Amino acid sequence: MQPESAEDFHARVLAATGPDGRLAVNIEEMPGWDIFPFEIDSLRIKPLEPLADDEPPRAGEDPATCWCAQPPKDEPDDHLVWSNESWTLRLSTDMKLPIGLSLGCREHYDLPTLPPDLAGEMGRLVVAVAAAVESLPSVGRCQIAKYGDGGAHLHLFVLGRPARMLQLRGSPLLDWEENLPVVPLEVHRANAEHVAARLLAGVGGAGPTWL
Ligand SMILES: [Zn+2]
Repeated sequence: MQPESAEDFHARVLAATGPDGRLAVNIEEMPGWDIFPFEIDSLRIKPLEPLADDEPPRAGEDPATCWCAQPPKDEPDDHLVWSNESWTLRLSTDMKLPIGLSLGCREHYDLPTLPPDLAGEMGRLVVAVAAAVESLPSVGRCQIAKYGDGGAHLHLFVLGRPARMLQLRGSPLLDWEENLPVVPLEVHRANAEHVAARLLAGVGGAGPTWL
């Protein structure tokens, strides 16, 4: 059997919609779990959209237009938590979690095009970053995500799930996150400095640029 086409996948989903073009909320799955952030009484899924003609181009799809091909800015980068010659770990100060980081390579690659040497280093860095984030007292678990739907340049999201807030476990974390109060910059930076210290001790590199 050949791999299924996009048209066939979409047709199968469309066939499961009701007369109003919507899928039913599956309360046997996550919407019925305690980690789902919304009450389901009035919840409904948006009508299924038609299959797009193509995947839209992402920012930086042409390496010449990517941020990595632009000349460096004059002002200092005050979000860099840790870096070495190939990788950067940046702090997302707008994340309403104990910590939100973005791990990316300096050279222009996406995940499917990453050369083997960088792929091996990324694996070791992911382990080291996860260990450093999970050593924060306010973090219960380190979540790591790769979406790549917006930007073509490889970037992994590293998210610290708040400790002992069990409703925030699992993949709905980001649905909760947007509704949490803002985290003060000094809290973000103190947590990031802790992570950086662990990384410097474990894998070398350079620490926060704001220190
Ligand atoms: Zn790039």
